[in-house]
Amino acid sequence: MLSIKNVHKSFGNNEILKGVDLSIDKGDVVVILGPSGSGKTTLLRCLNFLEKADQGHATFGEIDVNLHDAKKKDIHAIRQKIAFVFQNYNLFNNKTALENVIEGLIIGRKVPKNEAIEIGKKALSKVGLTDKYDAYPSQLSGGQQQRVGIARAVALNPDIILFDEPTSALDPELVGEVLAVMKNIANEGTTMLVVTHEMSFAKDVANRVIFMDGGVVVEEGNPHEIFVKPKEERTKKFLKRVL
Ligand code: ATP
Repeated sequence: MLSIKNVHKSFGNNEILKGVDLSIDKGDVVVILGPSGSGKTTLLRCLNFLEKADQGHATFGEIDVNLHDAKKKDIHAIRQKIAFVFQNYNLFNNKTALENVIEGLIIGRKVPKNEAIEIGKKALSKVGLTDKYDAYPSQLSGGQQQRVGIARAVALNPDIILFDEPTSALDPELVGEVLAVMKNIANEGTTMLVVTHEMSFAKDVANRVIFMDGGVVVEEGNPHEIFVKPKEERTKKFLKRVL
């Protein structure tokens, strides 16, 4: 469903991605782990064209693109298939939870407002925020704000949701509610690519785990292969530090 080949990205002289290959099938929940600075976030941002890769190729369903030099129409078509959940939620502070969720439907997808409101309410109830449609971000906890961010992604009914460290800006006591929502969505068969430092999520929810270090994929496998029987020294060292 999604495959990328040989993605390179530098910032100045600093080569962050050094040839990353990855493929994701429908229904996969893939977690990317790796030390800080290994390029995980940069990879997600290149996939959604929030950063321009220096080199690399991607296939999204029937669309084939050069990640360095994608045509506007392909970028638009791919963005219709992908939703993104940001580390810092990226909500509009002057809009309510429901308005945040329906904005992309109305503006990006041209869904009529009445229909968007119905879809938005359903998405917010899916993340446990039925009573918060009219709340502004400043009236919500970080966990609730991130759940609005997830509802906004779900409402778009994308082929895949990319999560960029969705819990790392949260106080520890709020992490669980967001991971629980992500687990529910995963259990419904949503295809997800998740960058996270939450090992419990990777172990319990992912069907594939990718370990990145130094701008390359060092090792990938199912959670048992990565957490119980890692092959590569770099993976073993990382897991020793974080588990
Ligand atoms: P973390 O787990 O800490 O978020 P990461 O694996 O997601 O790390 P990235 O956020 O992809 O790593 O960053 C990789 C490197 O690229 C870092 O050294 C970062 O400072 C650098 N970097 C990222 N974005 C930019 C940018 N826009 N300009 C310059 N350098 C950048």
